[in-house]
Amino acid sequence: MREFLQPLLLLGTVQQYDWGKTGSDSLVALLAGRNSESGVFAEYWLGAHPKSSSKLIIDRAPVCLREAISSNPEVILGKRVVEAWGKELPFLFKILSVARPLSIQVHPDLRLAEELHKKDPANYPDSNHKPEIGVAATKVQMLCGFRSNQDFKKKVLGCSQIVEALSEQTLAELEDISDKNGAAVKEQVYRAVMGLSAEQVEGLCSQLYQQTEKIDDPEIRRWLGVVSDLYPKGDVGVFSFFMLNIVTLQPGEAVFSLPGVPHAYLSGDIVECMANCDNTIRAGLTSKFKDTDVLLDMVDYNVDQPCLVETEIEGMETRYLTPAKEFYLTKIESKIPLPVGGHVKGPAIAFCLEGAAYASVEGEGEGRVSIESGQAIFFSAALNESKPLELGLEGTIYLTTVNPIFWE
Ligand SMILES: [Zn+2]
Repeated sequence: MREFLQPLLLLGTVQQYDWGKTGSDSLVALLAGRNSESGVFAEYWLGAHPKSSSKLIIDRAPVCLREAISSNPEVILGKRVVEAWGKELPFLFKILSVARPLSIQVHPDLRLAEELHKKDPANYPDSNHKPEIGVAATKVQMLCGFRSNQDFKKKVLGCSQIVEALSEQTLAELEDISDKNGAAVKEQVYRAVMGLSAEQVEGLCSQLYQQTEKIDDPEIRRWLGVVSDLYPKGDVGVFSFFMLNIVTLQPGEAVFSLPGVPHAYLSGDIVECMANCDNTIRAGLTSKFKDTDVLLDMVDYNVDQPCLVETEIEGMETRYLTPAKEFYLTKIESKIPLPVGGHVKGPAIAFCLEGAAYASVEGEGEGRVSIESGQAIFFSAALNESKPLELGLEGTIYLTTVNPIFWE
């Protein structure tokens, strides 16, 4: 019990998915201190997800955070969090290093997530929804949401392989696309494409791959070059480059994923924070399970631009404002060694992206935890009731807490 009345060192886990970056190109590998190893380093996780829990260091020994929470839920999470989310840390923090396009995915809302988990727990291991924020750590490219009406029309008509898949009626409606019928037309086109058989996809992709120089959009042309190497036999997701926005995020810019909006990271390094959940429905660029029927029923055709996250900047802090109760991400930066004022309300995780940081309970210097780039500190809820914290840094940390709107 007493051990949770101090900040604790927290060790994350690395996920080596095949889309990750390698060696020193990978921010994940650099942060995890594994950049001299061969292999791919796709994600670094900090949290207590059942698939891969982080470890607390208590008296120099590693302790599984998930197990610690399970034995001391109210001490670590606090009463109100336990009431709302059970013995689950509500958020999961990740760093992603993306070398090549991820599968295009759509997140269910809470009601659908519960329904899918009940019906098919093997493919939907979580009953939770998955609000998610992605902050660009380096320049990031991603697919996100359907293109706006006129752009959608132009790009789709510019791809003769998609046109081939459309009925005459759909084509006529696409020609007349407007605010009135925009969502309905996009739905018809998307359903027609997603309804293609594997054989048709293979045939149309092989035609498309041979004619990429005819595509007038240089961004689409470039990505077709990438996916034709990755999916030489084609993939239905290839057509998404014509239907979805290709978005570029500069470092510091962030996107919030609304339920029902198709999205996929294409390249770059990302700081991500989400509800503690791994639930996604895939829509292409993947060899994994695709549940097309469920997908088509839940896609939102009304969202035609990425949901950029608003920030609030105060002193050293940049706060990313989202409606997700489960998490609240704050970037804290200082170029000189400085104590950070204020109070950290646990449960919370501070991750050091660069430089160094420390935390201790006021007046209890011997319990000070110091971290460097790639390391993290965990703060239990019980800390709130004890003395104020001292926090300091020189560099950049990302602090994840429960969203203050939850406590209101
Ligand atoms: Zn996502």
